[in-house]
Amino acid sequence: MKQVYEFREGGKDLIPLLGGKGGNLAEMTKIGLAIPNGIIVTTDACREYFRNGKKISEELRNEILEKLETIQKKPLLVSVRSGAPISMPGMMDTILNVGFNDAVAEEVLASIKDETFVYSSYARFISMFSEIVQGVEKKKFDKIAEETKNPKDLIPLYKALYEKETGEKFPEEVKEQILMAVNSIFNSWNNERAILYRKLNNIDDNMGTAVVVQEMVFGNFNNKSGTGVVFSRNPSTGEKQIFGEYLICAQGEDIVAGIRTPEPIAKLQEEMPKVYEELLENIHKLEQHNKDMQDIEFTIQDEKLYILQTRNGKRAPKAAVKIAIDMQEEGIISKEDAVLRVDPSLVNQLLNGDFEEKAVKEATLLGKGLAASSGVAVGRVMFDSKRVKIREKTILVREETSPEDLKGIALAQGILTVKGGATSHGAVVARGMGKCCITGCGAIKINEIDREMYIGGRTVKEGEFISISGYTGEIYLGKVAIKEASYDDNLKKILSWAYEIKRLQVRMNADTPEDVKMGKDFGAEGIGLCRTEHMFFQKDKIWAIRQVILGEEGEEKNKAIEKLFELQKEDFMGIFKNLNGDVANIRLLDPPVHEFLPKEKADKIIMAKNLGIHLYDLEIRIRKLKDENPMLGHRGCRLGVSYPRLYKAQGRAIIEAALDCRKEGHPVHPEIMIPFTMEAKELAYLRKEITEEIECLFEERQERLDYKLGTMIEIPRACLLANEIAEVADFFSFGTNDLTQMSMGLSRDDSVKFLDQYREKGIWEGEPFYSIDQKAVGKLVEYGTRLGREANKNLTVGICGEHGGDPKSIEFFERQGFDYISCSPFRVPSAILAAAQSYLKNRK
Ligand code: PEP
Ligand code: MG
Repeated sequence: MKQVYEFREGGKDLIPLLGGKGGNLAEMTKIGLAIPNGIIVTTDACREYFRNGKKISEELRNEILEKLETIQKKPLLVSVRSGAPISMPGMMDTILNVGFNDAVAEEVLASIKDETFVYSSYARFISMFSEIVQGVEKKKFDKIAEETKNPKDLIPLYKALYEKETGEKFPEEVKEQILMAVNSIFNSWNNERAILYRKLNNIDDNMGTAVVVQEMVFGNFNNKSGTGVVFSRNPSTGEKQIFGEYLICAQGEDIVAGIRTPEPIAKLQEEMPKVYEELLENIHKLEQHNKDMQDIEFTIQDEKLYILQTRNGKRAPKAAVKIAIDMQEEGIISKEDAVLRVDPSLVNQLLNGDFEEKAVKEATLLGKGLAASSGVAVGRVMFDSKRVKIREKTILVREETSPEDLKGIALAQGILTVKGGATSHGAVVARGMGKCCITGCGAIKINEIDREMYIGGRTVKEGEFISISGYTGEIYLGKVAIKEASYDDNLKKILSWAYEIKRLQVRMNADTPEDVKMGKDFGAEGIGLCRTEHMFFQKDKIWAIRQVILGEEGEEKNKAIEKLFELQKEDFMGIFKNLNGDVANIRLLDPPVHEFLPKEKADKIIMAKNLGIHLYDLEIRIRKLKDENPMLGHRGCRLGVSYPRLYKAQGRAIIEAALDCRKEGHPVHPEIMIPFTMEAKELAYLRKEITEEIECLFEERQERLDYKLGTMIEIPRACLLANEIAEVADFFSFGTNDLTQMSMGLSRDDSVKFLDQYREKGIWEGEPFYSIDQKAVGKLVEYGTRLGREANKNLTVGICGEHGGDPKSIEFFERQGFDYISCSPFRVPSAILAAAQSYLKNRK
């Protein structure tokens, strides 16, 4: 098995093997860009290394040494970098200037003639190598450096420190240095921050990293040298304009570390116009070739440009949408590709909004930094990443962020740093998470000891609220009000493309005419679930349903029922009108009875009075109605079977409202849905009862209307007997909330208490009530769908559980050939996008 590749032997298609960095370098070599030469040790070799008990095998050693011969430059000075197939910025290690020893230093000095440069590079190599390969603390080297003026004098002191700390002599042999470096880069795959980053980003732990060994070029060579990071388009706004920064006389790590604040890229045009022109040409070539926005690292050595690295750039949600659209319009990618480029979760972030203009005008501006990642955040100031807590709104304020801050960044609402540019590590990570971030706010002075900061003439203590805008870089005192939804034209355009592409119908779960209006504006194609019991939570209606629940069997209850649905009919009409002819799937009552019963004494007194009974008798009725296990109690269609009058009257109210609306000129498509079915005979009974009632209504009014009557499938038994149920149903709507609860034996309400422990112990990943458990619950869904469709060729199949808004679950429903998905109105836009992407992926 080949474990080491020369750049010219690889390409982008080999990224799983060569890593993102390696694959891209090989690809760039192929298209003729100025790439310093090098070799790549594969991810296979990394996995083999771990299987081998963290040992580089004899074969791999020989292969590396043999391939090193192809880098002909002498003396051989190289960088040794990690590069996984999926970008993990700053999470693993890099060692620069590998290859130095005393003889090499002399040799380099003979051509470069700059002693300071040569020996600081050499010294830097020793300290980096010692820190990364042997874990010697960097500050010990820094202390020596502070006390030593001449870099040449550092070399013996550094080597002595190495020997003292490790008990070994510093390796002088270039090849040995490289092999040790490769070894430690492999190990960095499993350092703490890399493991956490993979966990947060769902990256497979078994993937392994490749290692790139590449000729060094020196950005710290002289004042006509430098290093920079440039994006082919603006990663915050998406504008088609290069965006980036560089540092004169510096090496790449200086930019990423964010310690010196760099110059904006435009300044390079004044400083080195020819290099700038060449850079533009290279950026254009790379973008055209890779068909995506590029994040490029470059180095200039003595006015010669080298491209060191390129990858698809991380971008803010707004930029992701704009870039996808622009690239389609520029003919670089197709509409399908543009739709595939936007992560559905970004859409939700885009709907998260900005500060209210009025509130901004009235707010106290404390200062301004670089707007590094868009969005806004309001939270309490926290200076230490370790103290940022879940569920606490926090703004992490740091001198500069480092990969150690990852957990803090993930938990905080927003990030604010004193140092660092817009491409510093923290900014890149925050942008990837779609999190608001401001960097380089030099006006801040942090006092770590007293846990406070000074900014804009004020002292802000840890725990006090500030508000930050990643659009403007502005920092405000206190809480600034956030306005909802930035639903801009670009987002609407990409969604309209997704809408054209998708196969699944995307409906909404909506219970009020207002929700319906919002969902329609977001592109929903009708209602997939209207929970009619939710309509009774409003103050005036709750008494009417209490009257139904608590009223005496017989005439009193029936009267209360008629009155209740007379009230509800108006709501149905509002919904039908706002739907404008789209389908309305209305579910008959599925009330957890206890939620509607009066709890306060004052309410009980009113209720008893309404019913004309004594408070004591009311208490008895309430006690009788109380289920020991409400989730499996007298709910759903069990109520319908006990009180057919309830379902009959509600069915009548729905159809009456539809007839009235039609009379007023509004087209209507009602669907009546029975919840919680477990048995075909149960559904057949209710169907007969409701149909008879509706037939009476048609008779009375001398007019008819098409409607459908079907059921939710949310009980495992119903999935297993779906063929029988389908014979009496026009549609199935999978209620995956209850289905998950019942098939996993996990309470919808209580599992939050212990699922974290399952995740920590590696027993369970993810959240089963958010993303469907495809392995088992999915199997029930698949089985139920197949049986149902075999028994009833005209059966419509959809989903209305929470999973209907989750992109990963939507992919599953697409594969099952569902007719529709349904989710809350706010999730409709991302569901439309996810549906289109699922269709495109499934088609492939
Ligand atoms: C379900 O169970 O998935 C469902 C949509 O119904 P509810 O959440 O109202 O129980
Ligand atoms: Mg349910």
